Amino acid sequence: MKRLILLLLPIALFAYQIKNGEVKLIKLEKKSTVVFEGKKIPSIKSPTKKDAYFALIPIKYKEKPGLYSISINGKKEPLYVELKKYKKEYIKVATSKVKPDKKSLKRIYKEYKDAMKIYSTITPKRYWGKPFILPLHSKLTSSYGNARMFNHMLKSFHSGADFRAKMGTLIRAANSGVVVIASKRYYAGGSVVIDHGEGLYSCYFHLSKILVKVGQKVRQKELLGLSGKSGRVSGPHLHYGIRLYSYAVNPLQFTKEINTLFKGNR
Ligand SMILES: [Zn+2]
Repeated sequence: MKRLILLLLPIALFAYQIKNGEVKLIKLEKKSTVVFEGKKIPSIKSPTKKDAYFALIPIKYKEKPGLYSISINGKKEPLYVELKKYKKEYIKVATSKVKPDKKSLKRIYKEYKDAMKIYSTITPKRYWGKPFILPLHSKLTSSYGNARMFNHMLKSFHSGADFRAKMGTLIRAANSGVVVIASKRYYAGGSVVIDHGEGLYSCYFHLSKILVKVGQKVRQKELLGLSGKSGRVSGPHLHYGIRLYSYAVNPLQFTKEINTLFKGNR
């Protein structure tokens, strides 16, 4: 009976609660040593409160639900990963985008390797100082995390959020940073990736025109390119993604979570 009562207790009892594919922001009073799942998580300076720090914990899309622990300056705190039920989606694309030929496979592998090298790089400097915005104002047409089936044969999960965008819609930087990818890629099509510093990147895919260059510093709201339908798509839209310490996390939940730094006393 006791065990049953324990099971029925609201999970909100845990100080830290998060769903797979999402990011948890932990506010810290000082520079701290934060460790999650054996990995050291950077403790970074608050953009709004002097001498305050915070840590961002990304939870992998495929992380199993359950009780984990996070260590802050050696003190262990429970962190509960709740299972997020993502929707299923069926998408029809060109056959070449689900069964690439040998030459394309080589290109795909190189593009993947190059991008992962960038996403796993932590630039010590921070380039942003304002709340994050979205790259356009439009309707969300496909959420992050949807379990996808391409042409009824290829399974994958949606690593970003898709927004309705007719050809040529202006796409703007979510925050300030440095352009690290500005090229046409096999799946992502016309791609721009911005390094915001400290292991954080924003991604803008399927563009019809790229208006920035690698190495270029961009400010928030600066024009990056025009939306399109390049790469693995079923029609024109903007794919917007966030990478944190190399993990593809929910960009809308991330935006909400990081912007809490600008609310209240911080
Ligand atoms: Zn997408």
